[in-house]
Amino acid sequence: MLDNRLEVAVDTLKKSGVRITPQRHAVLEFLLTSKTHPTADEIYKALEGKFPNMSVATVYNNLRILRELGLVRELTYGDDSSRFDSNMMDHYHIICDDCGKIVDFHYPTLDEIESLAEKVSGFEISHHRMELYGKCGNCAQTKIQ
Ligand SMILES: [Zn+2]
Ligand SMILES: [Zn+2]
Repeated sequence: MLDNRLEVAVDTLKKSGVRITPQRHAVLEFLLTSKTHPTADEIYKALEGKFPNMSVATVYNNLRILRELGLVRELTYGDDSSRFDSNMMDHYHIICDDCGKIVDFHYPTLDEIESLAEKVSGFEISHHRMELYGKCGNCAQTKIQ
């Protein structure tokens, strides 16, 4: 499953004429295996052992290229700690209030909400996003003890 997604992604890079540097490959692979929606900083920390010469700017630069090619999406939360998600299928997120953990939540896309919003507001709606908040299993358990 991962091999296939990685292969497809590498293929997309090749077709776009983007050079596949070892760092770029590592950032991509890390995102595809990670289910935690990491920040650029977390990606940097995870890979700096492998690439001592790599800078945070390199990670940002690679993330920008991957985003522009539609291989990852950037999740912004109003501060400067964007998170990155390699799951490009439509999905929602559940976020832990305590530890900030983000988990994918698959649910049929609420398309009707967009057409209703258009009708009501006269806007041309391009997309919507929904987040659900609560406590993850770990944090809920810690509270009980
Ligand atoms: Zn939590
Ligand atoms: Zn996600």
